[in-house]
Amino acid sequence: MNETQRNVILLGAPGAGKGTQAERIAAGYTLPHISTGEMLRAAVAEGTEMGLAAQKVMQAGALVPDEVVIGVVRDRLAQADAQKGFLLDGFPRTMEQAESLDAMLAEDGRPVTHVILIDVPEDELVERLAGRRMCAGCGKGYHVVFDPPQNEDACDVCGAELYQRSDDNEATVRNRLEVYRAQTEPLVGYYEGHDVLRTVYGGGKMPDEVYALVEQLLEGD
Ligand code: AMP
Repeated sequence: MNETQRNVILLGAPGAGKGTQAERIAAGYTLPHISTGEMLRAAVAEGTEMGLAAQKVMQAGALVPDEVVIGVVRDRLAQADAQKGFLLDGFPRTMEQAESLDAMLAEDGRPVTHVILIDVPEDELVERLAGRRMCAGCGKGYHVVFDPPQNEDACDVCGAELYQRSDDNEATVRNRLEVYRAQTEPLVGYYEGHDVLRTVYGGGKMPDEVYALVEQLLEGD
């Protein structure tokens, strides 16, 4: 690893493995893991005004309004630990978010350096989301078949109970995938145009195999 600053975006459909790869990248490259989904779930759990407003939208698998998430990310990127690089997971998800992010980073003179698209076929996404489990304590993600915890129902890291996200049910999953195709997939072309997009094919691969490919990209220029 060298001293190059890494301002990284993970792009990919729900279930592509962004959260899993983000945990590894954040640990391997000492980058703050900025997940808008995690921040919104925390706001829902705390019952904040933003959480209460976001809850129904998230449950339906739709997107929280751009101005809300853009504000959250702007504040987070201004914090001290994000000045030497960051890892965005689940943001941007719309063209407006991508353009706002570019504008705020341009103000600071720190561009996005890597956009990593994790590409997984749709059938596999549905299967992965159905088996996904999250730790109620530290937020670590698991899969009952592909990435199981050592002790069923308990987190390997902190021992807290595992749960299934309420938006990982089939109807909401279908909607989340449609929303991804319509609103987020256009970002692939946007970042290709900026020459920062690199694609990792994640279909049929275990997290370690995907991470090895991700590392190659992050070790490159
Ligand atoms: P995730 O954990 O990334 O799958 O996000 C869970 C849910 O949070 C999404 O289905 C959206 O409802 C909401 N969400 C997360 N990130 C964003 C974003 N960048 N823009 C709008 N909504 C978001």
